[in-house]
Amino acid sequence: MTSSTHRINRFIRAQLRALQAYPVPPAADLIKLDAMENPYSWPEWLVNDWLITLRGAALNRYPDPAARALKSRMRGVLGVPEAADVILGNGSDELIQMIIQTVAAPGHVILAPEPTFVMYRQIAVVTGLDFQGVPLREDFALDTDAMLDAITTHQPAVVFLAYPNNPTGNLFDREAIETILACAPGLVVVDEAYAPFADDSFLPDLESSDNLLVLRTLSKLGLAGVRLGLLAGAGAWLAEIEKTRLPYNISSIDQLTGEFALRHYAVFEEQAKTIRHQRGELLGRLQALPGLTVYPSAANFILFRVPPGRGGAVFEGLKSNGILIKNLAGSAPVLADCLRVTVGKPEENAAFVAALASLL
Ligand code: PMP
Repeated sequence: MTSSTHRINRFIRAQLRALQAYPVPPAADLIKLDAMENPYSWPEWLVNDWLITLRGAALNRYPDPAARALKSRMRGVLGVPEAADVILGNGSDELIQMIIQTVAAPGHVILAPEPTFVMYRQIAVVTGLDFQGVPLREDFALDTDAMLDAITTHQPAVVFLAYPNNPTGNLFDREAIETILACAPGLVVVDEAYAPFADDSFLPDLESSDNLLVLRTLSKLGLAGVRLGLLAGAGAWLAEIEKTRLPYNISSIDQLTGEFALRHYAVFEEQAKTIRHQRGELLGRLQALPGLTVYPSAANFILFRVPPGRGGAVFEGLKSNGILIKNLAGSAPVLADCLRVTVGKPEENAAFVAALASLL
């Protein structure tokens, strides 16, 4: 025991030792509204057709390393401009890791506004880079002046901007992002994980910007279990990032399943439309409850603040009522007493609102 502590301290950096592994709480038997998943399962006819497709999988062979069929289908449905190249990842998490590995060198900086998706910081620190977080304003808008100052001071290799942002749910100001793109010395990654629920995208901007990369994922659309992300951007940058990709990062099963699912894209678009509608309903019901501050959302989740000091108790109370959401209290001072709920099926949302009302 003592000797392993000694060896660990000797070979593992203090920065890594200080990190926590990404926590995923168990959700068995709970209404699961914590992870921005699409709550709808596949219709039976779709499952049957999919199983027929899987029979053709050559599992004794390695997958197509370039995932050509899937890549071309994803480009088409997501609307990636001709001028941009793409790389697929095992979830967009893996693409974030590849981007950061590509620029890894002593002294290089990764920068993002905070609070935001925690993996930008986590992967930067794991990779041995310096991470600089720039606080969002109190209303969770980008503090453009603070961002530009930090960019001038730290000269980041990569700026990450989640658009819409997680966990706050808002779209940052487009002009502020354009200014950041013009001033950044390196890459600006616009992470559009929640694009199916938002009305704007930087994909068309790839035509005119040579330091912009756009990240997409199929997770929130309804394929979180398949693990497929897409990175789009200028060929010169992507050729460098491609060197960090493990050769067979997208399994044959994922390639077949992703390609099959996207042949039925309309099913998922329809589900996303329903979720957007339900988001509006849920927002209205939360706004009607006393004592809550409810933040607007362009994503498939809603951030809200409960009265001071009540965050932990409300979260635990919901759990005792069989409902799992995300407790953000403690993750950053600006998120004190903040909770985040994923938009579920109407009956799940109703159960959540009823339980929450009884706890306030
Ligand atoms: N980006 C953002 C902003 C996210 O919130 C998430 C998931 N929580 C991801 C990327 C990663 O998603 P995935 O790896 O499932 O594609």
